Amino acid sequence: MINNNDKKLGFDDVLVIPKVSTINSRKDVNLDTRIRFPSSNVDWTGMPIMASNMDFVGTFEMGMALQNFHITTAVNKFYSTDEWVSAINQGLDLNYNFITFGLDNIELIHQTISDISAKSNQTPSIAVFDVPNGYIKSFCELISVVRKEFPALGIIAGNVVTPDGVKQLMESGADGIKVGIGSGGVCSTSATTGVGYPQLAAVIECSEEVKKSKGFIISDGGIKTSGDIVKAYSGGAGFVMLGSVLAGHEEGKASLITKDGKFYRKFYGMSSGEAMKKHYGGVANYRAPEGISILVEDRGNVEDTIHQLLGGIRSACTYINAVNISEIFEKSTFIRV
Ligand code: 5GP
Repeated sequence: MINNNDKKLGFDDVLVIPKVSTINSRKDVNLDTRIRFPSSNVDWTGMPIMASNMDFVGTFEMGMALQNFHITTAVNKFYSTDEWVSAINQGLDLNYNFITFGLDNIELIHQTISDISAKSNQTPSIAVFDVPNGYIKSFCELISVVRKEFPALGIIAGNVVTPDGVKQLMESGADGIKVGIGSGGVCSTSATTGVGYPQLAAVIECSEEVKKSKGFIISDGGIKTSGDIVKAYSGGAGFVMLGSVLAGHEEGKASLITKDGKFYRKFYGMSSGEAMKKHYGGVANYRAPEGISILVEDRGNVEDTIHQLLGGIRSACTYINAVNISEIFEKSTFIRV
């Protein structure tokens, strides 16, 4: 059965049309954006980009560097509470750094959040609940329990790629939904399982659904350039999440590897054989890896990359007459190319 005969679009299938603009300079574009979380009532302001909770990307060092740009980090879930406390004592800002959980039990979530609060005097205000398959029932049940026990916690949950997935998680109490299956740069889910959805189409369809409950979408996976970030906002995403684009930087803490006179850093999918070996002692025999390992040429300091990305977004805003990121959606018209 074919669900729908329309061609489903990826970022490379479209461009955004320029328009008559009254914005004379990129300097006139304000990138800070206010996002309201409908279920928890968190009222957040910042630059709606999120570093992915992956090894060598979602590190405290990355969080410290990105918070200077008001950019957020979903901190990977392999840090201990003591490491959180010491990062907070060194200036990690919880408005921009979000704690991450998987399909964990509620006792562990309670323990972690209350330990961090007690030892640092600061409480995480936003948490990311990240599983490869956000459709499973036990995950939705976990989100419902977390919502009940933490009424004021901003909850981002995913991943799904269809409106029914969005609806189910929003009804469970999430504020924002992470969208993307099979589109990540080091993801091999579509090859391994045949499952996936072109990323831009998923963002467009899921953002229509999430607006019914005043939530937002995080477009996660497949972004290669600042142009793709703009296309995700144009499609209706509130946030974009970046893995590959932020890999290969000093702040990710992957060791430098020398090969043929060049410097590289390691990067791998969190469901790759390498990640499973590191964090879980190996690939369980009922599973197949759904991620790959690569070497990324060393890209130095992440600041330089961020300046380029933000410059690209500012320029896009002047082309389409959007004074800020929230206006990108309403001011954008795609053409297929
Ligand atoms: P990227 O920005 O690199 O294109 O995509 C990053 C996203 O890929 C992550 O935020 C996560 O959702 C997804 N991802 C990370 N590791 C894996 C993996 O091993 N397998 C799959 N299927 N997806 C992954």
